[in-house]
Amino acid sequence: MIPFSPPRIDKEIVDEVSRALLSGWITTGPRTKEFEKMLTNYGGHASTLCVSSASAGLELVLRWYGVKEGDEVILPAYTYAATANVVVHCGAKPVMVDSGDDFNISIEAIRKAITPRTKVIMPVDIGGLPCDYLAINALVNEPEIKRYFVPGNAEQTALGRILVLSDAAHSIGGILWGKSVGNLTDISVYSFHAVKNLTTAEGGAICLNLPDPFDNGKVYAILNTKSLHGQNKDALAKTKVGGWQYDIVEAGYKCNMTDLQAAIGLIELKRYDQDMLVRRKQIFDRYAEAFSNDSRFIVPVYELDEKISSYHVFMLRLSIEDESFRDAVIQEIFKREVAVNVHFKPLPMMSFYKKLGYQMSNYPIAYRNYIREISLPVYYDLTDEQVEKVIEVVKESYNVALSNN
Ligand SMILES: *Cc1c(COP(=O)(O)O)cnc(C)c1O
Repeated sequence: MIPFSPPRIDKEIVDEVSRALLSGWITTGPRTKEFEKMLTNYGGHASTLCVSSASAGLELVLRWYGVKEGDEVILPAYTYAATANVVVHCGAKPVMVDSGDDFNISIEAIRKAITPRTKVIMPVDIGGLPCDYLAINALVNEPEIKRYFVPGNAEQTALGRILVLSDAAHSIGGILWGKSVGNLTDISVYSFHAVKNLTTAEGGAICLNLPDPFDNGKVYAILNTKSLHGQNKDALAKTKVGGWQYDIVEAGYKCNMTDLQAAIGLIELKRYDQDMLVRRKQIFDRYAEAFSNDSRFIVPVYELDEKISSYHVFMLRLSIEDESFRDAVIQEIFKREVAVNVHFKPLPMMSFYKKLGYQMSNYPIAYRNYIREISLPVYYDLTDEQVEKVIEVVKESYNVALSNN
């Protein structure tokens, strides 16, 4: 079986994790702080806080910005549940909008969804392709849109507009107009979950890039405290002479990253551009070559003049728009020992969100994208021969499913 996306674990990673294990410090400490510095340099944003997951990072930011009951957060219907669930945790309403042909959130749909209750927009870089942040950032800064904004706390008053919080779970390494993901919106959150491009087993990072009058270093300190029970000193600081004293300044959360996770991340990030992204691009290019000029398939956009994907998910579409046909093709692919996936079943189709009243018929483009999407395996250790096998199997499965139809 060709798996869908196993993590790349080699000797270099095992050695660094062993060093962390034997170092005497396994929770948040020197490796996490070094990983944060590396991430800040990599993304080109102002400051980075590592946390236990992207979900925790997104929620921490929403809480910091004071998002609560009565507020609205605009996000795509076409995303993983984490994006909307964290809004629900805060008691606010996820306002779902439709996508474009590139799978990303539609800017026109965002504009129509803005109300005086809108506090945050959470675009998602689906598959690794950055959204059109020039347009989104311009939108939230339009005088008429800003006039609409009703600040509810000091942070909202300081920003004076809707916060752009990008769910960059897929897109570390993605580029828009020469700038890296991390540096494209007010705040972006990476995921280092096991299936993501850059993994720490589980983990995430909050990339702070807030404009004046914010001091991103101070916001880092506030979020750091929030991620550790509101404790004003972390475990490492408490080990210093006379450092046992600490205070609890709020009832915070517990979502810090450990040094074991950071040990994996340090190795992964060091070789990410020269190694991981190079291999992923090769695989994307080969799939694109094999499936373009074939009327049975539609190849996803992943490189344009202004943007480059992080090559996270290769989202192939079938030309036939029929969910049961797509499912039959997937059945045939699995029979031939290749693991594929669907990214994503839109949230209005999930029972929890259906019960809240979301209706898939309101998101026609997301639906059309979903019913014919098949994500192909892309990972570092996927060999050229395996790539050829995937191509052959997908094409054969399409034909078999069609003839069984
Ligand atoms: C994976 C994923 C997340 C959640 O990441 P975690 O680190 O597992 O919390 C959020 N959004 C999207 C789009 C994802 O694919």
